[in-house]
Amino acid sequence: MIELVTVADVRAWRREQRTAGRSVGFVPTMGFLHEGHLRLVDVARARTDHVAMSIFVNPLQFGPGEDLTRYPRDLPRDRALAAARGVDALFVPAAETMYPPGSEIRVVPGPSAERWEGAARPGHFAGVLTVVAKLLHLVEPDVVVFGQKDVQQTVLVRQMVRDLDWPVEVVVAPTIREPDGLAMSSRNSYLAPEDRRQAVGLSGALRAVHEAWRGGETDATRLEAAARDALAVYPGVGVEYISVAEPDRLSPITTADARSIVAVAARVGRARLIDNIILGEGLG
Ligand code: AMP
Repeated sequence: MIELVTVADVRAWRREQRTAGRSVGFVPTMGFLHEGHLRLVDVARARTDHVAMSIFVNPLQFGPGEDLTRYPRDLPRDRALAAARGVDALFVPAAETMYPPGSEIRVVPGPSAERWEGAARPGHFAGVLTVVAKLLHLVEPDVVVFGQKDVQQTVLVRQMVRDLDWPVEVVVAPTIREPDGLAMSSRNSYLAPEDRRQAVGLSGALRAVHEAWRGGETDATRLEAAARDALAVYPGVGVEYISVAEPDRLSPITTADARSIVAVAARVGRARLIDNIILGEGLG
């Protein structure tokens, strides 16, 4: 695995792939890798000749008072995991490389960024889309892979790529979970042991919604109520939103179908966790 640090490094590597006629897959991450990230690598590898991964804790997507400074980092471990999984090029830029002094242009997301995570974290998606735009222009991948875990991010990236006519295929890979159902996340490392027991409430609530839907319930309000009922036995889970939406723009709906998204966000101890399911698929 080659490590790329500068813009010139990335461009040279990309030129080499093009000259050799190799297709390139790309997995952007913030590091502290877990199996969820590594499955994205598998998905990229299955579709392309060489895979690049980026590790960059993007300051632009963190609001004031959020966890930018304490976000978990372990580059030596990430390097070993990425190399073992077959990443060909690891791009680890410095913050000044991505945002040199004077850099001020930002991507403005559409209305899909205003609810859910965008409402809870003002400016978050402008930061996400700006860094994704820069990374896509640097790496110029044929395929970029994101996780369903961050469903609103996938919707917005798809919209950006479509609205701005970028020649990249956006692939979304399923959420990878711990054996008890908790969606893997770098932020799970914030959970104290009792928080960790409570955190399973999020996926438990999604499972309850899925079961209610399979039992014939399609009313979105009643499905949301099923999630809240399931969460009643997890006092450590401070729900921020539970919502049923259509999958293309995440607009709220009144009647759910197999493609509908059910998303939840909650505070558990020091962590703010998110999870979601596609109703027809459940927890997978
Ligand atoms: P992050 O490092 O948290 O910014 O995540 C980088 C990428 O990995 C994003 O596309 C995430 O959606 C994806 N990802 C994070 N956790 C999971 C998971 N448990 N399963 C699948 N993909 C994930």
